[in-house]
Amino acid sequence: MFEFTKEQEMIRAMVREFADTELAPKALELDRKGEFPYELVKKIGALGIIGVASPREYGGSKAGHLPAVIAVEEIARVYPSLAFILEVTQAPLYMLENYGTPEQKQTWLPPIIRGEKIAAVAATEPTGGSDLATLNTTAVADGDGYVLNGRKVYITNGSVGDIVLVLAKTGERASILALEKGTPGFIVSRRQDLMGFKSGDVCELGFSNCRIPKKNVIGKEGGGQAVAMATFTVSRAAVGAVGLGIARGAFEIALKYAKERMLYGKPIAGLQAIQFMLVDMDTEIDAARWLIYHPAACLDRGMLPRDIGKLSARAKYIGGEVAASVTMKAMQVLGGYGVSPEYHLARLLADAVEIFPATGTPQIMKIIQALEIVK
Ligand SMILES: Cc1cc2nc3c(=O)[nH]c(=O)nc-3n(C[C@H](O)[C@H](O)[C@H](O)COP(=O)(O)OP(=O)(O)OC[C@H]3O[C@@H](n4cnc5c(N)ncnc54)[C@H](O)[C@@H]3O)c2cc1C
Repeated sequence: MFEFTKEQEMIRAMVREFADTELAPKALELDRKGEFPYELVKKIGALGIIGVASPREYGGSKAGHLPAVIAVEEIARVYPSLAFILEVTQAPLYMLENYGTPEQKQTWLPPIIRGEKIAAVAATEPTGGSDLATLNTTAVADGDGYVLNGRKVYITNGSVGDIVLVLAKTGERASILALEKGTPGFIVSRRQDLMGFKSGDVCELGFSNCRIPKKNVIGKEGGGQAVAMATFTVSRAAVGAVGLGIARGAFEIALKYAKERMLYGKPIAGLQAIQFMLVDMDTEIDAARWLIYHPAACLDRGMLPRDIGKLSARAKYIGGEVAASVTMKAMQVLGGYGVSPEYHLARLLADAVEIFPATGTPQIMKIIQALEIVK
């Protein structure tokens, strides 16, 4: 069992209150309109939520990876699109904090942490996100910089991003290069119309002879795959937390409904069939919760990304499973009302299934775990 510190409990309480008062009343409408929630990103920045795991010198609070996961979970409970934006932002923050030069950190970290600038990581290509070794995007050295050409798909924060950290081949090996908004040749080909995360921003990006200065390489030239792998390993617990939050949100809706809905003159919460569904949901949520917190707590205890590969793949896998499974059970508790938009469950289910492919499919998560188990 986890013991939370006072600080972690305070962060959870603060984010939950903010989610209930500021996010819950707006979430459905923003998702319906498909509007990116710029103002709310700024608000979570001002509240210190974006930089909860980031160093103090750049405006973060260095509270840790577990508080960051808790913050994502609490926001996902009422507004998964914003939780996903927050979760995705942890990846560029991690890259810059751990591999950036002092100048890169000073330039980009403070405005991202404040929610004033938005960041993205662009790894996936049309030829297959699971096979990141086969990259077609290239950055060819030219004078004091690189010339970037290629295409990326499914890039979260792609069109709203002020800075996009792009994985591209620089010769035989890959590097991460920071591409800034407004660079000539940087095209947002289209915003992808997905089933869920309706007020998120997932895009296809194109690069046509984009010039990137040498000082924008993150980490060592040729070290991009290692940086990307470490970053995805660290961020997977937060992706799992989006699922955990969705599951909790769905369970709360179902429980409230079961206590209020009268059939045969009594609340349906008294029916054993309904109770069994509630018990299954509650059990699945608790089982997933500890698996999702575990890798983040290990990082806070000083373990490295390479030590938590299996734990973080499991956390991400279980987050997708619990979100979909609990939301579908919650829909059944509500009978016909489960599929009505006003009860939010249809939206939560659409958001839940978006978790499956993000930062690696369930099958890839199982491969990572299997490699460690059978080694
Ligand atoms: C909402 C959302 C947000 C995203 N955000 C980002 C982002 O910000 N940045 C980014 O770079 N990418 C992002 N992605 C892309 C995501 O990382 C990819 O979709 C994912 O890695 C899978 O790649 P793919 O879609 O090309 O599927 P593919 O790699 O083509 O996989 C197709 C199928 O083959 C299976 N498969 C692949 N390899 C194996 C194997 N070795 N053994 C068994 N089965 C296998 C997969 O599990 C899957 O079932 C996002 C995706 C979504 C849906």
